[in-house]
Amino acid sequence: MVVRQYAVIGLGRFGTSIARRLHEAGQEVLGIDINEERVNDAEQYVTEAVIADATEKKSLVSLEVDTFDCVIVAIGDDLQTNILTAMLLKELGVKKTIAKALGRRHGILLEKVGVDWVIYPERDMGERVANQLLSPNMLNYIELSKNYNIEEIVIPKHMEGKTLRELDIRAKYNLSVIALLRDGEIIVTPPVDQEFEKEDLLVMIGHRDDLAKFSSL
Ligand code: ADP
Repeated sequence: MVVRQYAVIGLGRFGTSIARRLHEAGQEVLGIDINEERVNDAEQYVTEAVIADATEKKSLVSLEVDTFDCVIVAIGDDLQTNILTAMLLKELGVKKTIAKALGRRHGILLEKVGVDWVIYPERDMGERVANQLLSPNMLNYIELSKNYNIEEIVIPKHMEGKTLRELDIRAKYNLSVIALLRDGEIIVTPPVDQEFEKEDLLVMIGHRDDLAKFSSL
């Protein structure tokens, strides 16, 4: 596994979730917050945590944020602080910057500043919840374009014990099965005579409407 270096600025709920997950996955994570208590709490789930004001250029310089692979601005409600931090990161030449936006206008400003990936946590979570409701058997998805997704879908009950050939998923549902996940193992491009078992997860690519239909079977 490639180990990358991440810095997460702002250790509220959003920043904490990102930092914790990356650290669990074996990545190097520096947590930065202006609040001492948050920094102390973070010590259990990051590689290193430091108290610093991210709007002070000299603090960011001394932390050498420009040497990190990716820096995430997870500062919450304070728009000015969030944007100023993002600007400083760009000015210091950080390779990849990610920032949380509160809304569309805030997001436009962050894009103008040159942030590589602007995240709208509430909008995105809302969409995820709606998608989950539309596709109850779908566990995870990647949006490839406006209409096409890759989704992980639990095999419908009536397909258990059948093979890919018998089910003819490509012709009947207009979807391609690119992998099969079983007991934590992955079978890439499963053969046509592969028999499906209970709780198999199909990784499929296709139009989101076709995927929604399949995951509601
Ligand atoms: P969430 O909505 O993700 O819970 P919060 O607003 O609670 O977000 O958390 C934002 C975090 O950002 C807080 O822990 C706060 O102390 C931190 N923060 C705010 N301003 C700065 C700053 N200038 N430098 C570093 N951290 C900051």
